[in-house]
Amino acid sequence: MRPFIAGNWKMNNGPIRGKAFFEEIKEFPREKAQVVIFPPFPTLPQVKELAERKAIALGGQNLYWREKGAFTGEVSAEMLVEAGADFVLVGHSERRNIFGETDELINLKLKAALKWGLKPVLCVGEHLGEREEGRTMEKIKFQLDADLSGIDPHRLIIAYEPIWAIGTGKNATPDQAEEVHAFIKEYLGNIKVLYGGSVKPENAFSLMKQPHIDGVLVGGASLKPDSFYDIIMAGVKAFEEKG
Ligand code: PEP
Repeated sequence: MRPFIAGNWKMNNGPIRGKAFFEEIKEFPREKAQVVIFPPFPTLPQVKELAERKAIALGGQNLYWREKGAFTGEVSAEMLVEAGADFVLVGHSERRNIFGETDELINLKLKAALKWGLKPVLCVGEHLGEREEGRTMEKIKFQLDADLSGIDPHRLIIAYEPIWAIGTGKNATPDQAEEVHAFIKEYLGNIKVLYGGSVKPENAFSLMKQPHIDGVLVGGASLKPDSFYDIIMAGVKAFEEKG
């Protein structure tokens, strides 16, 4: 087993900065970690070769479910594949909350991604109020049921991202994350579940040391080659210790 370390660049690192990142990041032991970066669309094809040299796979941050046509501003699964993506984020909380994506739309996007051979990373997570009311598992179950309707969960990766922990500097404690990961695995079977929400070099090891945490989805700390490398190596160490 090796950790799965993903970096979501959000709307950062265009082609110029993106190339510099891949030139600068240190080599990690390839057989000991699976690493994916999700750059903005224009950066994707520009960094494909550089990423390959560093054994880093690429993914899209979003997609539209229709195959082509009059959908201004949208990108299809086939286009992502053509641009060099193997993975795609679906249902990130920023897509749900800022752009109003519904679970029905997310379900269609997952189906389109799978049809074109992309591996989706489906993001789920609760708002702070839902956690405080003790409704975390209920919310996660609701999202999984709706998003995965008609889909075999083994075909994708889940990222548990508590909304209150994204970009806030407040990460879930390893125990809080572990509890939700164990729940997701019990509910869906043994699939990969990543934790996301203010992951940094300082907390990455203790999170990935948890038995049901298979890796991390990192936002802010994935923008700098050094901090992202340190997170990869924290994962390598945690998985060596977990055995
Ligand atoms: C994310 O964008 O998925 C994320 C977890 O962001 P951050 O690490 O910055 O909280």
